[in-house]
Amino acid sequence: MDKFTIPFFPPLEEYHIQLEKVWNNEWITNNGPLLQTLEEEVSEYLGTSKMSFVSNGTIAIQIAIEALDLEGEIITTPFSYVATSSAIKWQKCTPVFVDINYSDYAINPALIESKITDKTCAILATHIFGNSCDIEAIETIAKKNNLKVIYDASHCFGTEYNNESIFNFGDISTCSFHATKLFHTIEGGGIFSRSSKVIGKANLLRNFGHNGPDKFSSEGINGKNSEVHAAMGLTNLPHIEAVREKRKHQFLLYKNFLENTTVKFQELNDLCDFNYAYCSVVIEDKASFNRVLEMTIQDKVGLRRYFYPSLNTLPYYNPTECAVSEKIAESIFCLPMHFNLTDTEIEIISNKIKLCL
Ligand SMILES: *Cc1c(COP(=O)(O)O)cnc(C)c1O
Repeated sequence: MDKFTIPFFPPLEEYHIQLEKVWNNEWITNNGPLLQTLEEEVSEYLGTSKMSFVSNGTIAIQIAIEALDLEGEIITTPFSYVATSSAIKWQKCTPVFVDINYSDYAINPALIESKITDKTCAILATHIFGNSCDIEAIETIAKKNNLKVIYDASHCFGTEYNNESIFNFGDISTCSFHATKLFHTIEGGGIFSRSSKVIGKANLLRNFGHNGPDKFSSEGINGKNSEVHAAMGLTNLPHIEAVREKRKHQFLLYKNFLENTTVKFQELNDLCDFNYAYCSVVIEDKASFNRVLEMTIQDKVGLRRYFYPSLNTLPYYNPTECAVSEKIAESIFCLPMHFNLTDTEIEIISNKIKLCL
């Protein structure tokens, strides 16, 4: 109860079976056989074209920007993890923040067009907490203005949109397989695209740009991932349905315990089959919010302020106002969820929150 999350630990003997393969192969990194198997199995499980497995979800975004040759301004959301906007900056592009919806905390498409200039090259939107943003509206704007679209889909392993993997949308979708995410490889990330050309380019970029032992196609980066990480992914994949079912159960329990109170839950998109990656609550009343904050410290309850702060307020960006994002960031918590959290603990946490309202 004191932890916001605990990574999923598969049975050690199952991991051991995968590791034995690594030892037998005497191949521990550099596009090894387990990595290739993981890329195939994940794509098959999700129903996507073949993914590019990289070392983390942040480098996945950077490689996505590089693979699409983006330069200039990228329209993005202030309500995301800091990696979304810092990846833009590391690629020497400029993040242009557009405010979010009050209901689902995703970028507000109605505000995008007024921020488009002749320097705008792309939209980088985050699917929040496993729920989709308004993909249709974003793609319409992108098409009309000739912009590329990248989705930071770090939260969205297993999420579907219109009955297909959410990773099939945009020019590129990226995912994080960090230990705290629904599906993990300890550290890791995935790049997904319907274009095999884009995936081919990402595969070159993650490996220094090598297109032969002594040849380089362009300047790349080291975004490779190892056999030991792929082994964890192959061990976790058969458990993913159970992990997701557990989260769904916990999400619905919280919702049940906290319904008819002043806490507000994220509005979910009807076109989206949500993966229950996170359970967020907004507590609008400042005094109640502060009491909850105090309670989490005193009673050691692992609620996490997530996402906080609103990225447009970071001191190293040009000041832009995003009133809704700032307000949500000031009033949101994500509730503890992990495989070993019990129903009783969820009831206790919910009751503690209720007492603060
Ligand atoms: C976790 C996360 C990232 C970063 O992924 P890493 O694998 O930790 O580098 C980026 N964006 C969002 C929205 C995330 O939640």
